[in-house]
Amino acid sequence: MQTLPWLHPERAEALQRGLRERILVIDGAMGTMIQQHGFEEADFRGERFAEGFDRERVIEAHAHGPGCGCARDQRGNNDLLSLSRPQVIQDIHAGYLAAGADLVETNTFNSTATSLGDYGLQHLARELNEAGARLARAACDAAEAETPSQPRFVIGVLGPTSRTASLSPDVNRPGFRAISFDELRIAYREAAEGLINGGADVLMVETVFDTLNAKAALFAIDEAFEARGARLPVMVSGTITDASGRTLSGQTAEAFWYSVRHAQPVSIGLNCALGAKELRPHVDTLSRIADTHVSAHPNAGLPNAFGGYDETPEDMAGMLREFAQSGLLNLVGGCCGTTPAHIAAIVEAVRGLAPREIPRLSDAA
Ligand SMILES: [Zn+2]
Ligand SMILES: [Zn+2]
Repeated sequence: MQTLPWLHPERAEALQRGLRERILVIDGAMGTMIQQHGFEEADFRGERFAEGFDRERVIEAHAHGPGCGCARDQRGNNDLLSLSRPQVIQDIHAGYLAAGADLVETNTFNSTATSLGDYGLQHLARELNEAGARLARAACDAAEAETPSQPRFVIGVLGPTSRTASLSPDVNRPGFRAISFDELRIAYREAAEGLINGGADVLMVETVFDTLNAKAALFAIDEAFEARGARLPVMVSGTITDASGRTLSGQTAEAFWYSVRHAQPVSIGLNCALGAKELRPHVDTLSRIADTHVSAHPNAGLPNAFGGYDETPEDMAGMLREFAQSGLLNLVGGCCGTTPAHIAAIVEAVRGLAPREIPRLSDAA
């Protein structure tokens, strides 16, 4: 797979150059910014989904109408806003780019058939990924036109889905699986192709809590690249979900890296679930063992009693500056609870600090 040429050679080269020169900054949370709009059901639906289903979807021998069974609540289906409120999504990207972000993540975290099935919209996976990538692309192109010396990159996001392939959701049936590797592979392939068609510069398998899901995504990405005869750089970011420092599927940061290293990602990192402080030892581990770039985009601290996040831009930027001074980072950004103000503070905090040097590992593990 690594022998395939780059799909966008000048973009891939610009990214590599940026990574050699400095610590690149990824944007902050999409969800936090969407929440601030206080959207209701009707906002999520827009015209096309006004009845709670897709008016444009023709199902053979089925007449859509009241009681046809297709309608679902769409409130909280953030990814649908790429179609129903596209300007809002593009403006959120623009806000992060204005704050100084070098890379923005597409609004596609749940845009796999697997996750969209919860909203009765599994058929929209390809379209939502393509639309999400186009909105981020438009925002990046506009920002790049204004500041041509700072290239801006679209990260096409592939989320973890709502299912786990290596664990049973039912403690009484340990052998049961809610999804198979192949089902995930097919869903991720479709999503990846949408992101590529929409103009993503990079693909990121993000918020990985089950490594088998991530492997299905990486396999699907390779299939998509193979079919196209060209590839994009791939980033992988896992999530440590408990105090023992393991992912949901039970791996330490170290085990996680060695499980995905074969994919030769342009970066390996950690995001979500924890704040910068709790994430630090695990980022430190990756920075010592990974012979690729290291990323971190933590939440704005641990959730408070109301499920919100309290770390101020200054708190978070101060901690991440220390990460950078300690040589842990090549890419940094924010996850849940972070805003353009957080990203602007992080941009300032890491400005002029050298990126982590990729270690030359003596063993060929
Ligand atoms: Zn119907
Ligand atoms: Zn998060």
